[in-house]
Amino acid sequence: MVDSGVALYMRVSTPQQKIEMQEGMANMILQMFPASQIHRFVDEGISATKKNLRERPAIQKLMERIRLREISTVISYDRSRIARNAYEYLEIAKIFNLYNVRVIFTGENEKAFSTSLFYEAVYASTAQFEGRNIGRRTLDARKHFPPKLIGFQKVEENGGVRYVRDEPRATYIQLFFEAMSNVSTLDQMEIIFREYRTRLERSDLRLLDILKTPFYFAAAMNENQSHQLDYVESITTEELYNRVNENVRTIENAERQVKAESLSYRKIPVCGYCGHPMIVKKGDYFRRVRATYVCKNSEHKRNVIFIFEYEELLMNLLREYLQSIDIEKMKVICVNYLCEQEERESMKIKSLKQEIQKVNVEIVTCIGIRKRIDTLLKKKEENQTSLRNHEAILERLRLIKMHFSHVAKRVKFHLTSHEMQNSVIWDIADDLIRLTSVTTEEVVFELRCKTFTREDAI
Ligand SMILES: [Zn+2]
Repeated sequence: MVDSGVALYMRVSTPQQKIEMQEGMANMILQMFPASQIHRFVDEGISATKKNLRERPAIQKLMERIRLREISTVISYDRSRIARNAYEYLEIAKIFNLYNVRVIFTGENEKAFSTSLFYEAVYASTAQFEGRNIGRRTLDARKHFPPKLIGFQKVEENGGVRYVRDEPRATYIQLFFEAMSNVSTLDQMEIIFREYRTRLERSDLRLLDILKTPFYFAAAMNENQSHQLDYVESITTEELYNRVNENVRTIENAERQVKAESLSYRKIPVCGYCGHPMIVKKGDYFRRVRATYVCKNSEHKRNVIFIFEYEELLMNLLREYLQSIDIEKMKVICVNYLCEQEERESMKIKSLKQEIQKVNVEIVTCIGIRKRIDTLLKKKEENQTSLRNHEAILERLRLIKMHFSHVAKRVKFHLTSHEMQNSVIWDIADDLIRLTSVTTEEVVFELRCKTFTREDAI
C-alpha cells in the first residue's frame, strides 16, 4: 500500500472540456502524494458515449495496471469521466472493488465512492452520463408505447394496443413501490432491493429504472407533466410513485462527498506500548467512520488514531521544525565543517607533493636498475592522479565556502516558505523523522537530526 501508485484519470470528449479543469480539481489531493507516485492517464478527443472501453487506450492501460496491483488509488473528476453509462461504470467499479482500489472523485457534487456495489448502482443511476441522457431524449415514443416492459403484457387488438398486468410480476412491482415508499436510508433501501432483485430477476440498476418509470401508474412524462395513458392497466399509483421518488432523492442528497480525508498512509507510526507498527483500519466514508491507525495487538486495540489527525500533527511538526532551523547556527556549523575539510585537503596535497619530490629524487639516483625505475614511475603517476583529484576537491570546497551565505539564505527561504507544498514536505519526512509512536495520550516524534535547530525549539 505504501508505495503503490496513484492514478489520475482524465477524459475530454470535446474541445470545450478542458483537461486543466479536471486536473485543477485533483491538485489538492495530488499534492498529498509524492510526485514519483503519481501517474496520469488521459483519453483525449474521445466521447465516452461513442467509444467503448476497448477504444479508450488510457482507461484500458489503467485497468491493466490495477490488475497488476501497481495502482491503489484512482482520482477522477466524476463517474461519467470513467464510463459512458451506468452499466459500464458498474463493471469498472467491480474491478476497483476486487483490487481494493481507493477511488476519489474530485467533482464538487459527486458522491464519494463506496465499496458497496449497491450504493454505487444508486449513484451511477443518477450520474450525468452523457449518452444516457441523450438516449433518453430520443426515447419519447417508447415512453408511450414500450415494446416490452417488465410487469406488463402487450396486447394488440382491434388495430389498437393495450398493456395489461403480467402476474405475478405486476404484483411484485406493486409491492416494491409500497416497500420503497417507507424507506429513509440507503441501508433500508439495500435490504428491499436484495429481496426484489431475486423476485424480479433484475439488477439494481434496472430496479432503479423501474422506480423511475411513470408507465407503472399508467402515465408518461413530458416536460415534467404527466399524461394519463388510458390503454394501460396501472400497477401503482401516482401518489406512491411520487413518494418513492421523493424518498430516493432525499436519500441521495443526504449523502455528501467526504473529500481529501485520510488519503495517504505514510510514516506509519508504531504503537507506543509495544513498538509494533500500527495497521490501517479502513474507514467508511458513508458512515463517517474515518480510517484509523490501530495496534494489531488485541490488548492495545484501544490505541487508535484517525489518520487525518495523525498526518495533520506530523505536517505541523515538520513545518515547525523547518521554521526552527537557525540559519546563523547552520552557517557556523557548515562553514566550520568546510574549513576543516579544506585544511585536510591542503595537508593531503602538501604530503602528496612531498611524496612526488621524493620519488623524483629516487628515480634520478637509481639509473640503470630498470625494474626499480618502473615501480617508481608507476608510483609517481599514481601520486600525480591523486594530487589532481585533491586539488579539484579543494577548489570546490573554496567555491562552496565563498557562496555559502547565499546558499544558506536560499535554503532558509525555501524551507520556511508558506508556499511549500505538503507533497514536498512529505518527501523529506523520512529524512527528518526517525520514528513516530502513538499512545492513547500522545504522539511522539523522534527527529533524526536537531543539529541546525535553535536551542529553544522542539
Ligand atoms: Zn501495541
